[in-house]
Amino acid sequence: MSVNQHTHAGPPYGQPQPGYQGYQQPAYGGQPLPGVPHAQYGAYNGPMPGYQQPVPPQGYFPSLGFPSKGSPVSLNSDTSLAPNFIGSVRALPTSGAPPPASGTSLPSGHQGYSQFGQGDVQNGIPTSTAPMQRPPASQPFLPGSAPAPVSQPSTFQQYGPPPSSVQQLSNHMAGMTIGSTSISAPPPAGLGYGPPTSVPPVSGSFSATGSGLYTPYTASQGPPPPSVPQGLPLAQPPFSGQPVPTQRLPTEVPGFAPPPSSTGIGPSSYPPSTGAPRLPPMPGPPLSGQTVAGPPMSQPNHVSSPPPPSTLSGPHPGPPMSGLHGPPPPTHPPQPGYQMQQNGSFGQVRGPQPNYGGAYPGTPNYGSQPGPPPPKRLDPDSIPSPQLNELPPQQKPRHRIDPDAIPSPIQVIEDDRSNRGSEPFVTGVRGQVPPLVTTNFLVKDQGNASPRYIRCTSYNIPCTSDMAKQSQVPLAAVIKPLATLPPEETLPYLVDHGESGPVRCNRCKAYMCPFMQFIEGGRRFQCCFCSCVTEVPAHYFQHLDHTGKRVDFYDRPELSLGSYEFLATVDYCKNNKFPSPPAFIFMIDVSYNAVKSGLVRLICEELKSILDYLPREGNMEESAIRVGFVTYNKVLHFYNVKSSLAQPQMMVVSDVADMFVPLLDGFLVNVNESRTVIASLLDQIPEMFADTRETETVFGPVIQAGLEALKAAECAGKLFIFHTSLPIAEAPGKLKNRDDKKLINTDKEKTLFQPQTSFYNNLAKDCVAQGCCVDLFLFPNQYLDVATLGVVTYQTGGSIYKYAYFQLETDQDRFLNDLRRDVQKEVGFDAVMRVRTSTGIRATDFFGAFYMSNTTDVEMAGLDCDKTITVEFKHDDKLSEDSGALLQCALLYTSCAGQRRLRIHNLSLNCCTQLADLYRNCETDTLINYLAKYAYRGVLNSPVKAVRDSLINQCAQILACYRKNCASPSSAGQLILPECMKLLPVYLNCVLKSDVLQPGPEVTTDDRAYIRQLVTSMDVAETNVFFYPRLLPLTKADVDSDSLPAAIRNSEERLSKGDIYLLENGLNIFVWVGVNVQQGLIQNLFGVSSFSQISNTLSTLPVLENPFSKKVRSIIDMLHLQRSRYMKLIIVKQEDKLEMLFKHFLVEDKSLTGGASYVDFLCHMHKEIRQLLS
Ligand SMILES: [Zn+2]
Repeated sequence: MSVNQHTHAGPPYGQPQPGYQGYQQPAYGGQPLPGVPHAQYGAYNGPMPGYQQPVPPQGYFPSLGFPSKGSPVSLNSDTSLAPNFIGSVRALPTSGAPPPASGTSLPSGHQGYSQFGQGDVQNGIPTSTAPMQRPPASQPFLPGSAPAPVSQPSTFQQYGPPPSSVQQLSNHMAGMTIGSTSISAPPPAGLGYGPPTSVPPVSGSFSATGSGLYTPYTASQGPPPPSVPQGLPLAQPPFSGQPVPTQRLPTEVPGFAPPPSSTGIGPSSYPPSTGAPRLPPMPGPPLSGQTVAGPPMSQPNHVSSPPPPSTLSGPHPGPPMSGLHGPPPPTHPPQPGYQMQQNGSFGQVRGPQPNYGGAYPGTPNYGSQPGPPPPKRLDPDSIPSPQLNELPPQQKPRHRIDPDAIPSPIQVIEDDRSNRGSEPFVTGVRGQVPPLVTTNFLVKDQGNASPRYIRCTSYNIPCTSDMAKQSQVPLAAVIKPLATLPPEETLPYLVDHGESGPVRCNRCKAYMCPFMQFIEGGRRFQCCFCSCVTEVPAHYFQHLDHTGKRVDFYDRPELSLGSYEFLATVDYCKNNKFPSPPAFIFMIDVSYNAVKSGLVRLICEELKSILDYLPREGNMEESAIRVGFVTYNKVLHFYNVKSSLAQPQMMVVSDVADMFVPLLDGFLVNVNESRTVIASLLDQIPEMFADTRETETVFGPVIQAGLEALKAAECAGKLFIFHTSLPIAEAPGKLKNRDDKKLINTDKEKTLFQPQTSFYNNLAKDCVAQGCCVDLFLFPNQYLDVATLGVVTYQTGGSIYKYAYFQLETDQDRFLNDLRRDVQKEVGFDAVMRVRTSTGIRATDFFGAFYMSNTTDVEMAGLDCDKTITVEFKHDDKLSEDSGALLQCALLYTSCAGQRRLRIHNLSLNCCTQLADLYRNCETDTLINYLAKYAYRGVLNSPVKAVRDSLINQCAQILACYRKNCASPSSAGQLILPECMKLLPVYLNCVLKSDVLQPGPEVTTDDRAYIRQLVTSMDVAETNVFFYPRLLPLTKADVDSDSLPAAIRNSEERLSKGDIYLLENGLNIFVWVGVNVQQGLIQNLFGVSSFSQISNTLSTLPVLENPFSKKVRSIIDMLHLQRSRYMKLIIVKQEDKLEMLFKHFLVEDKSLTGGASYVDFLCHMHKEIRQLLS
């Protein structure tokens, strides 16, 4: 092993670890899709634009033609005729007495996870019993003798230099991933099937030799250890050549403002504007990324955000700003358009607003009563335009707020994109607020985890609990531990510390990370989380340079990067035994509905090809995952697909009360070995059940069967269950139809979200202990109780998909795309996550799809690349501005090849003693993600109205605290919002109006339970677009450019009946066609000659050879790539009945169910704030 003696020479990180290719989402890593625009809409935390999928191999798409087969030879086509199997197999282990070999149903399920144990508590410097002799400097730092548990040479990768530029990175990646990526053509639509990429094996250690493309940090660049003695400046100096972190400056309510110092909402409460001081010219250079100074173009009417109070000349009346963030009170240039607001009105006076219904409901009843439907206004052109409005403002005081003068999500998104989209986000600075999720940016890891992995509600947190309580700003992190990265970014490196495992703090067990402080010449390190001093293991020793930094700092990911992985030792495995590769079990409902709809045949056809695309790791030629098959209705049918068989064999278990697996050998098989038998089985299943009359199904026993099979095989795995109906057949977990919409708005509404039996909770617990993750594909034609059926899926970290009234013609694309992605996507099994924090705060609450058996460990049978866990923090002591606050998220999991690993994400945050610093560093999108999850959990226990009220109250308190403590004194009639939170009201209103919290009459109980479950695992980008959908004017798209048309605000008055629009929210894509759209456009897009001929049952747009059609289809393809689910396309014609559904997503308008319009809600929030302040 080569030992690097020149560690300062910027070592090579470059080669992303070969063995780790799996995480480069197979479904994405391909070539840019020609013709797909990707300049404008970006990363969304997920696939980057241009982050394309590979292409399905020729002939991949399943043909519906079904090969005709003879009657199965060894299969019983009538399940009731198979009792002979039962007798014989009854001798096998039953669920009552699981095979001893499984040994997995640990009550606690975690004995083996020693890394989460507390270990010996050590205070202060431990007495070393080891000889203090310094190891030779040439000591290898990677014990080459450490064997990988799963033979994977590739995991010991060359630790090459990280490319220092995007270009280099791209080249690097290109050179690395080409392995088997021999696909070149883009997929026709949706997710394709690219063979997983692979890389040539690279042996060796983290050799630190090599000319580094990687520019070494300067001393000031490294993430500061919390207790660095040499007096690091409080404010982290920005890196040279790196964008100055955006300061989210406290601006006041855009739009409402009369006098410069404030903005007002009360019609007659404005002080005379004449006294308003002049704005001083902005001293100093403007901060990059600053969005405060409302540019004239920011609003159509040139009414822009008024400056914050601090822009006034004279002493800042508010509390002094902490010096932490450099320039204290932000200053701004005079704002054009501002003068328009000084006449005592709110920006431009406008006529009555559409959907701006009568009196705003009183506070106590806010939002709880469905209001009358708004006047039908299908013709936006008939709305009196503001310019034509003849009413003097005095006569219409309540209607004078100009929607263009209140904070616009579109504007905020555009500003951030233009300010922050061009430079990479470099993570070396503590407490840096990342660009918005809607901005396309690259991330360079320089010591903190990428925002793709962790986003926080605030990057500057109060030092004390009192301050935190005063502000009411929740302190939370939204963590996506296995997030997919765009190809330009480097995957986490895999670090092997040898047989002794990762180096950790003796006391709190935190993992080695960039914030640990080495002392005593490198012989010990002080923990950045708990301050305990720990001996450096001999094999890990390294000298320090004159600044106290280890000389191998840049060679080791765990010392210089925010995110990396450790190879886990056997101590980190259940029962001290390395895991077997996981298994996938496909469990297909073959009851009457499933067969009749063509679903069974579709699934079987699809499985034939999908099995070639199971996740595989690195350069492995085939997936290590074994597969098994079960079909079921009232009974279960297991299949023996052992490779030595000529034909598959069926074994029927009709005693579903005590589920067991009737065969061990031949149930879980290698796909390649059993290919012929599997293909035969998949051909035969649809035939066998073609004439079934069985309408009843079981459900609990299906999961039990999968669980027992995994237990017997002693592995983790995933069940893919395709299910159609409420399980009413006599069996454990049998359900009854208890849907009752009359419970809505009553105290019993919460029961609709609760499972109707505890059976599934108990089952989920057993599944988690085994690492049995359950993915559920539902095809209901009526109520099937998602709230109960989803329990196991939810608690095991699985995914749920729902296709109501499934029809082959319209829904198969969506289902198959979802299924392909779900089967292929990266997933870690048997996962346990713990978040450690520095002394002063701790993780107190968790939201997401998981199970917890104690207060700290989040357990997931499976965790995939799309799932997030939201963690809330509370103070248990004081924090200090000097040391800031640190988070370390450690995820222990089993890879798809059965390798046990730890993924570590570190993040350092600033701490403040001034509230203004908190409010300047918040991220509203993350705040909304947290608030939505908090509220959606709340409905399980509280009346929905109480949940809504509490959300409103909390946000009012947040804004009132800002107003009271951070804004300059101004009239109570003025609404003042922090710049970072100026979208809080509009987004909060969207959450309040969502189907879970305020359902419309067409929303089913299952829909609500489904959405509730989905949102709980969403990342920030997903909640952002889910609650405030993206609305694009397609007719404004430039067919010659790659860019998307500029999005517009979600309000009906923004629609023109001569245009076509697209609205997407991550689950659906609507294409809305105005009644006056030119015939030529209709012809080009739909291939019909008139508006009336457009079919609203289309599930895809016709493929037509003209620029407009191509452009629109490429936009839709691109949107699909950015989302984790394939969105349902719905064509909506103006004035058609479907338009009601579409209008539900125009979230700035008053909703049909009584949800307030944005303008109304803003007024309401203002009222709430005033009440709190008075
Ligand atoms: Zn510690």
